[in-house]
Amino acid sequence: MEKYVGKAAFKGIAIGRIAEMVKADKTVRREHVEDSAAEIARYEAAKAAAISQLQGLYEKALKDVGEAHAEIFEVHQMMLDDEDYNDSVIDLIESQKVNAEFAVAETGDNFAAMFASMEDEYMRGRAADVKDVSERVITNLLGGDGGGNTFTEPVILVADDLAPSETVQLDKEMVLAFVTRQGSTNSHTAILARTMNIPALVQVPIPKEVDGLMGIVDGMTGTIIVEPDEATLAKYQELKEKEAAKKKLLEELKGKESVTKSGRKVHLYGNIGGVGDVGYVKENDGEGIGLFRSEFLYLSDTDYPSEEKQFQAYKQVAELMAGKQVIIRTLDIGADKQIDYFNLEHEENPALGFRAIRICLTREEIFETQLRALLRASAFGNIAIMFPMIISKWEVERALEILNAQKDILRSKGIPFKEDISVGIMIETPAAVLMADELAELVDFFSIGTNDLTQYTCAMDRQNQHLEKFFDAHHPAVLKAIQMTIEAGHRHNTWVGICGELGADPALTETFVKMGIDELSMSPTSILQTRKIIRDMD
Ligand code: PEP
Ligand code: MG
Repeated sequence: MEKYVGKAAFKGIAIGRIAEMVKADKTVRREHVEDSAAEIARYEAAKAAAISQLQGLYEKALKDVGEAHAEIFEVHQMMLDDEDYNDSVIDLIESQKVNAEFAVAETGDNFAAMFASMEDEYMRGRAADVKDVSERVITNLLGGDGGGNTFTEPVILVADDLAPSETVQLDKEMVLAFVTRQGSTNSHTAILARTMNIPALVQVPIPKEVDGLMGIVDGMTGTIIVEPDEATLAKYQELKEKEAAKKKLLEELKGKESVTKSGRKVHLYGNIGGVGDVGYVKENDGEGIGLFRSEFLYLSDTDYPSEEKQFQAYKQVAELMAGKQVIIRTLDIGADKQIDYFNLEHEENPALGFRAIRICLTREEIFETQLRALLRASAFGNIAIMFPMIISKWEVERALEILNAQKDILRSKGIPFKEDISVGIMIETPAAVLMADELAELVDFFSIGTNDLTQYTCAMDRQNQHLEKFFDAHHPAVLKAIQMTIEAGHRHNTWVGICGELGADPALTETFVKMGIDELSMSPTSILQTRKIIRDMD
């Protein structure tokens, strides 16, 4: 028994035989070709075939994984129609008297290198796409079939990396899990795996010799176990069965409303940290996204993410949620979330210090960039903006002023955005609870951050494990603060949700519904369980 550990791109357990992905031989040799016109005609035919294959893939992806994921194949078709790309291939064939395969390979490499050197991360990511389409044309020129990946039984598929086109072409019924030696958890392939509901691991240092052996993929820990012993196999078989039984029961609640027997409806939303998590929300039938912790975009970078990069991320989430509400919280760093490049000074009391909205209202240029990205993305879906760590009215007023100034900038440039974009605040300080009536007049919604609200109400550091004896997640003061917030919100027509961990606490669901909560936002895997509790209520 051997274990190989990488990163989990999508959770779940898979047990089965391991198969190494077979890639077609696409070795390209440089050959001298006198008849350039005939070679260009060969290229044009191979390109036309590639475009029609990509159209087929687009249609398959549209059916299997939805419009947002299918779009990549439209982009690939556009790449092949790109004038610069075509000019480069034809110019190489004519000027260097080379074969079409070589001209396409050269062009593909050059364009990929150009994309890879770009500053914008989204554009850098396109390097893999241009290589993928070039390989498709080369395969057509060589008369290949793209590899021989037809299996007689469902397998754990192992590959160095998987291009989106390869992933979507695979027979979903025959793949138990994906394991790649390279790749990132945010690659298109990882996103596709999540949407296809297939456990996936990336960056696993697994040798090729495992081909044909038995394996267990543990998507919780990012591990693949090869040739498991009997005890391990039995343990995972039991885990898998339990997981399946639980899932099946909850599956039945998909597509159903989160409504009590007496007709009280609550919206159940999911919390996410990035684009890659949207699949979980959809898989668990989330009715929207109640908290997108945007600071994870900043945390995963080595410098301030550009407006364009943020725009792409917010837009992607909005599009994936297809009209459902997506509440994006503006930058909430400081305290336990520190970022080196912000160069924040050391503080004695970081939880009570320079954090979240306090940073945004001091270093306004960072805030302005984020707000412009959010506004631009609002043209592509149902985005709402939420400000964290509010204690005073003036903070909300100033944040709204800055937001309006960004709207003016976009308007003057003719850039579209949602004029009446919904704006809310997090209620996570006792000050905000006590000021809830005044604050409610300024915004469309409240979302109660019970993690911080508990910490600040009970004066109890949420990070400190030694305080467990004193810690009461259901402290009556916190519950009273929640009740007060809901009542104040409703007095002013401001809807109220909870996006802290308490929102998913099954012991409190009934209490919150009775208090009049409008929305609960939680880790996506808790949504169906909470729906069940609500539907069982009178
Ligand atoms: C909260 O404080 O409850 C909350 C949702 O925000 P975070 O956990 O990100 O501080
Ligand atoms: Mg918080």
